[in-house]
Amino acid sequence: MDPLHHHIHTKKYHSEMIHHLGNLIRINTRNPPGNELEAVKYITKVFDKEKVDTIVLESAPGRGNLIARIKGDGSKKPLLLMSHLDVVGVEPEKWDHDPFSGEIIDGSLWGRGALDCKNSVVLWMMILLILKREKITPKRDVIFLATADEETGGRYGARWLLDNHFELIEAEAALNEGGGFGREFLGHTFYTYQTAEKGNIWLRLTVRGKAGHASMPGKSNPTLKVIHLVNRLIKRKGRFAVTDTVRKMVEVMSEAQRFPVNILMKQILNPILSETIISAAIKDEATADGFRAMLKNTVCPTVLRAGQKVNVIPSEASAEVDIRILPGEDSEKTLEDLIRIIGDDVDVEVLDRVPPTESPLDHLLADSIRKTMARHKPDSFLIPLMLPGSSDGAFFRTKGTVVYGFTPVLPMDDMGLAHAHNERISLQSLEFSLNVGLETVLDFVL
Ligand SMILES: [Zn+2]
Repeated sequence: MDPLHHHIHTKKYHSEMIHHLGNLIRINTRNPPGNELEAVKYITKVFDKEKVDTIVLESAPGRGNLIARIKGDGSKKPLLLMSHLDVVGVEPEKWDHDPFSGEIIDGSLWGRGALDCKNSVVLWMMILLILKREKITPKRDVIFLATADEETGGRYGARWLLDNHFELIEAEAALNEGGGFGREFLGHTFYTYQTAEKGNIWLRLTVRGKAGHASMPGKSNPTLKVIHLVNRLIKRKGRFAVTDTVRKMVEVMSEAQRFPVNILMKQILNPILSETIISAAIKDEATADGFRAMLKNTVCPTVLRAGQKVNVIPSEASAEVDIRILPGEDSEKTLEDLIRIIGDDVDVEVLDRVPPTESPLDHLLADSIRKTMARHKPDSFLIPLMLPGSSDGAFFRTKGTVVYGFTPVLPMDDMGLAHAHNERISLQSLEFSLNVGLETVLDFVL
């Protein structure tokens, strides 16, 4: 279904979308503290004016979550359009322009959240407004959800909502952030729809011992023990595993190439040749690390704490370690294995744990994405994507919702700017995003 068939002129909606995105970026929702309620109030006002039903849910003072709904005829199960309102912090002195100005400079809208993910917030908001104004009755309820606290793990947002108000956001399928962007690779353009997210296990490991003089080091130096412990964990060889998402992604990317690149590239899926191909053929280090992370569990020590003074052995030392596991792995079992390696003289705290998740690659919603992309970008390829991290989407997948990360963005925009300095999105991407997002939703709900 194409908006043209509904005589929807998206031009005017496009300028409205830019206006709202600028306003939302100017509402500072840096998390912590979040203060998402301010953004919730803004969006509620927009929906109220159009008589779209909303529910505001505060998980803690200032931590606002917003649900809005366009009723369908009830013949099919709901579609959820989800995003988050909080953003990560900024170092304003490292930006070329004010990160909360929402200004348009050289064809791009600037500010924290422009790519992650106030662009998704306004995209889904505009789609509900369009359904309402154009008097379209979908076959499915279309639910808008903007959460608090995604950037620090969702305790005041997605997790809290699913524990306390699941009935308000239960849907067959959802569109989310974390995919939809285009990437150029070896002469072709690939658009992504995110189907999988790695899980995480965050540990704090503490070793205790006897304080003493560093001139007479004994065996029980906690600093040394933590160093050995971290080394043991890093050396633990991650099992190589190919998930459905990564298999399909590499297959499509390979088939786009000519002989012999197509054959060689497919070897990324071969446990013996994978690393050789990745390190020889992928020049960009971040892209190469991205491929590696999609094929293995990873262990990454991040925070180390020990000692105060060079000549004093401390009585305590600790390490925090970020472990990411692939879909298909049992998070419980992985944790048990790790604890065995760590040993019982170490105090283990689990700081956070999110299970790995994967949605089926094929679903009616995936068909809608595919059809729409084929119309808009016939020369590009659509690939499923695995996020090496996790988003709110993971919590919904564990509840049985099919979740795809699909907020369309053109390859001209660098997704690497999300969480970095000078985050911005081109107006061209916003227009593309609205057209593709709207047509995908219409195709699925009509
Ligand atoms: Zn995000």
